[in-house]
Amino acid sequence: MDMSNADWLDRSRRALWHPCSQMKHLEQAPPLPIASGSGPWLVDYEGQRYLDAISSWWVNLFGHANARINAALRDQLERIEHVILAGCTHGPVVELSERLAALTGLGHAFYGSDGASATEIALKMSTHYWRNQGHPQKHGFISLKNGYHGETLGALSVTDVPLFKEAYASLLCSTRQVMSPDWRLAEAGESAHDYALRAAVSLEMLLAQHADETAALIVEPLVQGAAGMGMYHPVYLARARQLCDAYGVHLIADEIAVGFGRTGTMFACEQANIRADFMCLSKGITGGYLPLSCVLTQDAVYAAFYDDATARGFLHSHSYTGNPLACRAALAVLDIFDEDGVLQANREKAALFNQCLLPLAAHRRVRHFRHLGMIWAFEVANAPPAFAQDFHQRALAKGLFIRPIGDTVYFMPPYVIDVAEMQLMSSVTLELLEATPE
Ligand SMILES: *Cc1c(COP(=O)(O)O)cnc(C)c1O
Repeated sequence: MDMSNADWLDRSRRALWHPCSQMKHLEQAPPLPIASGSGPWLVDYEGQRYLDAISSWWVNLFGHANARINAALRDQLERIEHVILAGCTHGPVVELSERLAALTGLGHAFYGSDGASATEIALKMSTHYWRNQGHPQKHGFISLKNGYHGETLGALSVTDVPLFKEAYASLLCSTRQVMSPDWRLAEAGESAHDYALRAAVSLEMLLAQHADETAALIVEPLVQGAAGMGMYHPVYLARARQLCDAYGVHLIADEIAVGFGRTGTMFACEQANIRADFMCLSKGITGGYLPLSCVLTQDAVYAAFYDDATARGFLHSHSYTGNPLACRAALAVLDIFDEDGVLQANREKAALFNQCLLPLAAHRRVRHFRHLGMIWAFEVANAPPAFAQDFHQRALAKGLFIRPIGDTVYFMPPYVIDVAEMQLMSSVTLELLEATPE
């Protein structure tokens, strides 16, 4: 007998604990039981379809059940599913590392499984670098206000979301937060450029005081995702690069959410013409198929660990490091970028979607309407309490899967979305906004 949505919900409630959720709230707002997916659509156990407007938490690039990624995985399954990467190596991990190096100008990829583990790797590597160089006191970190870098203990220490941190504060290491360049925080009339430069002055003041005890500055380049898609001018990154060089502090670019074309360029740092010392990648790296993350570094970092002494080597490992299946999915993703001219096609799609969104952007309840690459966001003025949850539920009833962050509504669709689907996304959102009480 086929299981219904209700059956799965019931068993789900008893058997598991959902991420980022108060389980009690799920009694009123149950999760969506998903049976299958196709392109940008999710399908429940009763055949109802939902347009995935947030790419399944920002991971999906080329749709669910993508034929080309599926074929690569099937092929890899017949060869080797996994092998230890300590003392072994394999084709998929070597090829992926070579191609990521060619794309980023950074090298020696170190792999983890999730975004947070990439953050941990970058933080540990930066600290260990300074220790190997004879500066063991340089072990502190600076991050941006409202920044998000994951929720394991090291990553949470550089994350600045009070709700996520408070309960675990006693477990975290202390870090410094510096003014965010997020343009929403600018004075009235202040340009994104000017505001970014003002934020950079604040960074310089902090570095001037604390560079001696600081290993690295970690940033989300161009878009502070979890802060509600806060966007900022690339001049901030250019200035941060100069300041990190001047003060002898590493720059860690957390491109976990923005990498792989999300901001319009393959990597967000390209828009500021900078190269970070460390780049963290995950989420879109496998097209949303399998957990994989990666940290790429400048050669000077690698060189500081290259030695006869084991203790000077980078001491970190995960069982699934460089998993061949995940690497094959990532290679298939890079092939699609090459073969389909994805960045150019996305520019054309974004222009069309901007057209669709004109009425929404001009709506009297919409504030700070913004767009970068394949991300769109705005705040809803006078949003009622529990707006995000309520909007999410009402959208589901109209076949749209969207999850506002606080008062921020954002679209981050899979790149395979077509014009009709973009129109659906904008018209449903406009309808729901009209019906949102003040
Ligand atoms: C999602 C995210 C992370 C954490 O990745 P997980 O895979 O969820 O651990 C880190 N940094 C940024 C910028 C992210 O968006």
